Formats: sequence, C-alpha cells, structure tokens
Amino acid sequence: MASRRDRPRISPKTHSLPRAHFSRRRFLQSTAATGLWLSWERSSFAKTSSWQQQLRRYRIWDLHAHLTGQGLSAQERVAWVLRYGRRLGVERVVFFMGMRFRYDPTPAQFRKDNDDLMRAVEASRGAALGFVYLNPKFPEESIRELHRCVRDGPLVGVKLWVALRAQDPRVLQVVREAARLGVPVFQHTWYKTTGNLPGESTPEDLAQLAQACPQAQLIAGHTGGQWAWGIAAIRRHRNIWAGLGGTDPQAGMVEMAVRELGARRVLFGSDTPGRTFASQVAKVLGASVSEQEKFMILGANLRRLLAPVLQTKGEKVQP
Ligand SMILES: [Zn+2]
Repeated sequence: MASRRDRPRISPKTHSLPRAHFSRRRFLQSTAATGLWLSWERSSFAKTSSWQQQLRRYRIWDLHAHLTGQGLSAQERVAWVLRYGRRLGVERVVFFMGMRFRYDPTPAQFRKDNDDLMRAVEASRGAALGFVYLNPKFPEESIRELHRCVRDGPLVGVKLWVALRAQDPRVLQVVREAARLGVPVFQHTWYKTTGNLPGESTPEDLAQLAQACPQAQLIAGHTGGQWAWGIAAIRRHRNIWAGLGGTDPQAGMVEMAVRELGARRVLFGSDTPGRTFASQVAKVLGASVSEQEKFMILGANLRRLLAPVLQTKGEKVQP
C-alpha cells in the first residue's frame, strides 16, 4: 500500500481552502484522544491476531442502517443486520425509518414506522439504537413524536429525509426542540447530478440550518453525496458532522474530511442493507489517516455524540 506521502492529495474544488490552524483546543482534543488510544493499545485486544478480533479493536458503532432488508418483522430485520455486522466487528448499529421507505410520510405513517423501530430496538437488548423519523411538514405532530419516542421513549436522535429542505422554517422549529433535548439530527443531504427531489436538502441547506440553530448537533448524511462539495459547504459550521455512509468507497473521501473538518467531525455509517458493511468499513480502514483517527471515526465520535442522551436513559457509555 502506498504510504501517506506517496498518495496524491485529493482536493477537488478546495485547493483554495486554508488548512485548519493549530489551536489550543485542537491540541487538547487530540491529547485526550491520544490517551484513549494508548489505553486501547495496551488492552488485551491489541495483542490478538485474527482479523475479526483486529476489527473488534476499533469498537465500531454504525451511525446509519435501515429496516428494509430480509425478514418479515422489524425485529427479524434488525437481528439480520446485527448478525452480519458482528462478522466485521460492529458493536452497535443505529437504525432509522420504517420497513419501507416513504418520502413524505403522514403523521400516522411515521408513528407506525417509529413503533416498528422501537419494538426492534428494545428486542435487540442494546445492540441496536434508533433515531426517530419525522416529517417537518407537520411540525406540531413531529415535535409530539419526538417527545413520545426520544424524550419519553428509547430512541436517541432524529432522522430527516427528503420531505422538506433543511432551510425551511418548519425544519428549524423541529430541530430547535431536538437541540433543547440534546439529541443529534441526521439530515440526508445530496447534490444530485440529475437534480434533487423538491424536498431534498443539499449540504448548503444544512449549513443555513446550522447557522440558524448553533446549539443543534447536525449530521450531513452521505457527506452530501458529491463529498468534495459537501465537505466544503459544511466546513465552517462546527455543529455539523459528516456522515460517511451510503456512498461508494472512493479514495480521498475520508482523507479530505479529516483534513478539512478534523477527525472528530467524521462519523462512520454503512447505510446497510442498501450498502454492504464490507465496502463501508473498508472506506475508513483503507484511508490514509492515522489508526487513532480511524478509531475516532469508526466509533468513538458517535459514542461521544450519543453519551449525553444515553445517560438520560441510564446508560453510561465507555468512550
Ligand atoms: Zn440511508
């Protein structure tokens, strides 16, 4: 494999972006991560040899999975995904949306989807986590659903898809409530060559939302699809994380995200069963970034993001 130095620096459209400057905060963050990394290196897992045990050392948490795979019930589908994930050392998987995808669900439909999800999450005995699926075209119903499933239920975040663009004031209304509850919001984003759906957000739409609600913790799903443009659009908004799931494993994606956003703002996700675990894990494992950065991207960052909400549900997360 080519060394980091041999690899071409991939920076489409961003050659004019300055490199992130050294700061005291970045130094302290990286020192804390190094401490974590060193304790991991000394653990017994680090001395094992089989490839599955090697993968388990990364403590992989998957941000992005769906209930659209094999099995008749949501529980069966979640169990199926978890079984395949475990082969690649995936510890925990976040699921969202229902057994079939709906672009523009009515409140009755998203409630049904969330009921299916909550049953499957509870049956998984901790291996599956879930984000509530909402449609901000119905802001009052969405906020009620957020309370039912996250504040008073087992779910730990919000998923928004393609019903309404992220710069719409109704999205802001829902996202403000998620921010008040301290839970992250995953917003699908994409730049489609063939044109976006009417309610489909670009990373720029999400950047506007991030500016309007700086307390929100927002995740740019798919890193915008066209990731080089996506990374550039979200770069200056420190309350946006890049979700890597559901794009082809192209060389340079993870490297550019780490270089421009810092490894702390990059989150592994698979988008399984639409994508394979293998192709998505490989995206990170094959990247020319440090082992410590891979550890952060594959799980530690998501654990840090979800630790406060999991604590409200009585779970203390090991970093
Ligand atoms: Zn997805």
